[in-house]
Amino acid sequence: MTIFNFAAGPAVLPHEVLQQAQEELLDWHDTGMSVMEMSHRGKDFMGIAAQAEADLRELMGIPKNYKVLFLQGGGHLQFSMIPLNLLRGKLSADYVNTGEWAKKAIDEAKKFCYVNEVASNADKNASYVPEFKRWKLDKNAAYVHYTTNETIGGLEFNWVPEVGNVPLVADMSSNILSRPYDVSKFGLIYAGAQKNIGPAGLTLVIVREDLIGHAPSGLPTMMDYKIHADHDSMYNTPPTYAIYMAGLVFQWMKRNGGVAKMEQTNIAKAKLLYDAIDASNGFYHCPVSKADRSRMNVPFITKGGAHDAEFIKQAEARGLMQLKGHRLVGGMRASIYNAMSLEGVQALASFMGEFAQRKG
Ligand SMILES: *Cc1c(COP(=O)(O)O)cnc(C)c1O
Repeated sequence: MTIFNFAAGPAVLPHEVLQQAQEELLDWHDTGMSVMEMSHRGKDFMGIAAQAEADLRELMGIPKNYKVLFLQGGGHLQFSMIPLNLLRGKLSADYVNTGEWAKKAIDEAKKFCYVNEVASNADKNASYVPEFKRWKLDKNAAYVHYTTNETIGGLEFNWVPEVGNVPLVADMSSNILSRPYDVSKFGLIYAGAQKNIGPAGLTLVIVREDLIGHAPSGLPTMMDYKIHADHDSMYNTPPTYAIYMAGLVFQWMKRNGGVAKMEQTNIAKAKLLYDAIDASNGFYHCPVSKADRSRMNVPFITKGGAHDAEFIKQAEARGLMQLKGHRLVGGMRASIYNAMSLEGVQALASFMGEFAQRKG
């Protein structure tokens, strides 16, 4: 039976990437060594890391005046590194509250500065993206932080806020590389690798050069972007194997039409699931407002939640795995990142149709 893995993260990886990693596991390019065993300062691994960075720069069109950092500590460490590095003497930062991940970023930032919540969707249970014209931006804020895709709530910005001269900071953990972004509109982009990039343990930071080097004295060395930038992300031992795997995923993306093609397929995949929900005569319900539905994470419940447990059980029997919703929201959630095939989503959509017929 073919298994399709709809996990939210760590998540599915392209099958051919895993196969390549398997082939190269014991002996990378006739070195007689696994990538895991290589010195991060040797020419072989330095080459792997440089290639991964070059491929990412090409895929995202990252301008020259941006640094690409391969860090650790996940999105969570960025919740504190961002205020610590980007406040630059200012006392407040703007945050958009769109759900669970935005709230975590806000709570952490409150330890370091005044957080101005410019907009919130808490009035409607985090089910929509707040309209830009109602945002209460502060032109003296150190930066504006928002979450491009709320992995738990299943809502996604399909536009980029225009915030003028204040640097825009984006948590792209769950939709980076799934759609094109004009990097030059951002001061800083960050993403844990385990959703759309590769295995857990690697965190990507893309940061405009003028924003680094302003950390307050006394900041722990490992928290300072400048240190990592000056040492090409090799100040300490980086997560070498995760960087290698991310590099294989970037090459897979390049072979398969890059970000533009990923986006096309992602649109088609998301449509299949939302159509299955909308065509079910109310048997399935997605709590997110239609315009703001995520292409990456599709949350839904059966009528009153009555058939959720059975849905999950029967889906598993068909090889449709990890569909249980986040513990905070319940129901189901299908995460359909770049590496989830159209075929996998078709299998889920047709199961949804059948199940609704039987139970509805
Ligand atoms: C998963 C996730 C995080 C947290 O990532 P960790 O690597 O677990 O720290 C942060 N933000 C978003 C949007 C996420 O999806």
